Amino acid sequence: MPRLDELDVEDPPNTQEATRPNGPCQELPERAGTGQERTGKDFGSRVELALGASNHLLNARNSPRYVAQVLQAVTAVATKLERTTRPFTGVGPSEMEARIGAVDLETPLPDTAAALQELEDVYLRDAVYFHDAKYAAHLNCPVVIPALVGEAVLSAVNSSMDTWDQSAGATMIERRLIDWTAERLGLGIDSDGIFTSGGSQSNLQALLIARNHAVAGLRQDPARTGLRLPALLDTLRIFTSEDSHFSIQKSSSMLGLGFDAVISVPCTPDHRMDPAALAEAMAEARRAGLTPMAVVATAGTTDFGAVDPLAEIAALARAYGAWFHVDAAYGGGLLVSCRYRHLLDGTRLADSVTVDFHKTFFQPVSSSALLVRERAVLRHITYYADYLNPQSAALAAIPNQVDKSIQTTRRFDALKLWLTLRIMGADAIGALFDEAIDLAARVGARLEAEHDFELAAPPQLSTLVFRYRPRLDGGGRLSEDDADVLNPAIRAAVFTSGEAVVAGTVVGGRHYLKFTLLNAEATLEDISGIINLLRRTGAGLLRREVAA
Ligand SMILES: *Cc1c(COP(=O)(O)O)cnc(C)c1O
Repeated sequence: MPRLDELDVEDPPNTQEATRPNGPCQELPERAGTGQERTGKDFGSRVELALGASNHLLNARNSPRYVAQVLQAVTAVATKLERTTRPFTGVGPSEMEARIGAVDLETPLPDTAAALQELEDVYLRDAVYFHDAKYAAHLNCPVVIPALVGEAVLSAVNSSMDTWDQSAGATMIERRLIDWTAERLGLGIDSDGIFTSGGSQSNLQALLIARNHAVAGLRQDPARTGLRLPALLDTLRIFTSEDSHFSIQKSSSMLGLGFDAVISVPCTPDHRMDPAALAEAMAEARRAGLTPMAVVATAGTTDFGAVDPLAEIAALARAYGAWFHVDAAYGGGLLVSCRYRHLLDGTRLADSVTVDFHKTFFQPVSSSALLVRERAVLRHITYYADYLNPQSAALAAIPNQVDKSIQTTRRFDALKLWLTLRIMGADAIGALFDEAIDLAARVGARLEAEHDFELAAPPQLSTLVFRYRPRLDGGGRLSEDDADVLNPAIRAAVFTSGEAVVAGTVVGGRHYLKFTLLNAEATLEDISGIINLLRRTGAGLLRREVAA
């Protein structure tokens, strides 16, 4: 291994620029055989272009360049982190569009350093930084360094997870992590699963399996012999709480059931699905001759972090022969929490579970998985393609992961989690989530004590839903209608200031602000600082309103 200062850090000469400073490809000499006479000079420039381009290929010859260039990029990011003092600059879309539109994509820059310099202007300076303690908006985590080491390896080796002959050991690492996750979920020895691009895709795949499982059941009915799929889909219904993720509705639509096949089940005041309401809704559907296809419980709702009563919901799903899916996209990190793991006890009763590693396992986007209790159900998405994964390969027990996935070419995202477990260990990841949960409890107490803020509900995981609603001179609070105008305006103004980033949501038709806390390094002082900023901003907007 050469020392870094001995590396050839020179970028390959940029022959493209020399060959065609401002012209499209058509101006280049045509290939032989087109009837055009090729001149020696044309041929020379073509060879020169190809040679220059091949200097950019990752291979043994270019490995010093690879190290040097990636190091430049990593250094640029590190420098950025060291100098950034707020989560955002507040830049607007039209300014970014203009800056990016001004880049001439036909004319490459001389080297990587110049491209990174330009990137500062078109991306890095004005990105939204999730590691900053005053980023408290969505379910984006600060990422752990071992996962970035994994990211560097997986994109360079570039294994593709569809078949054994494109991945080899990567397939076994992914399978081992699926088994590890399924074991923590308590899914039993017949369990299996697959890494996906995110919770939305995991939910879609779960509901695709549930749909095909239900359709296979309907096809047993002699009265339905010969019916085509659309006719069978018409009676299927999905039950999920009013607080569940919108990807359930979208999946239903994509699966040909329509948005309206999803029956929204009311929650108890703690924002968990009400099992009595679920029982009623399922009974009503049955009476109407409909088929309860699936019940989707949420373990960690996006707004309130609520974990639905999994055991009661599982019993109802079973009673109606419905698929029981648990969306633990947010709550999944509890699997490695020493203190709150018991909140996920009910996942052992699920037919399938979604876990997002890119949320509460502190992994970079993207990394998610779908786990199933019975590996055999994955056949519902198997398609044997002669060129890729012929049935003969399955019969010969060649492990082709595409048999279980709705993607074909697929990243080896599992490597990030693998290196995280091997370098940090599971307990350390859990400790990061525990910190965020404890911080949310302290922030909740603080907001409760603030006379001009209202908390919509006590925190359950690491989110807080609240609004600014000060007392007016008369002594009464700002009206709810006025608060509905003011709170989104506060959020927008704070975003534009770049000093903090918070989210917003609607509860019972009313506009609220939301913190999603996932940063173990953020302190109560940091978040109190955001609360003060929200108050100052809100009071300022109100004063301006009164003056106007
Ligand atoms: C974030 C989230 C999803 C969607 O996951 P993506 O990875 O963003 O696709 C699904 N369900 C819940 C409860 C979530 O919080």
